[in-house]
Amino acid sequence: MKFLCDEMLGTLAKWLRILGYDTAYAKQMNDEEIINMARKEGRIVITRDKLLARKADESLYIEEKELEKQLKKVVEYFNLEIGENILSRCTICNIPVERIKKEEAKGKVPEYVWEHTEIFWRCKKCGRIYWLGSHWQNMEEMIKRIEEE
Ligand SMILES: [Zn+2]
Repeated sequence: MKFLCDEMLGTLAKWLRILGYDTAYAKQMNDEEIINMARKEGRIVITRDKLLARKADESLYIEEKELEKQLKKVVEYFNLEIGENILSRCTICNIPVERIKKEEAKGKVPEYVWEHTEIFWRCKKCGRIYWLGSHWQNMEEMIKRIEEE
């Protein structure tokens, strides 16, 4: 399942990528461009714009303003798997990241992180390094809350 978030949903797009879902972000695109891109790439449009949601082939209208509620809505609506593919995708480039050796992360992440972390991933495109840090804890807490409700 692939998504295309509208300009008002940049943070949601980032979190969907953290969950491992291929999510494009429609920055400075008009409705027609968004609809065409979604059609061409087989993406579901996620939008806060009711009209755009109606015009797109496949879409989900998001009324919620808070990130957590937005994420909950998407996860429930599409019955998304959460957990398995976490941190498998760069949150900036939206491409899969690769596992690297611990040594390769040395000097590129804060010293205390390097010392206390065993598993690192890197984005081939932007070089950003990922690990299960504070990001992950926030995510885990959010997932727990979503699952409990
Ligand atoms: Zn990247």
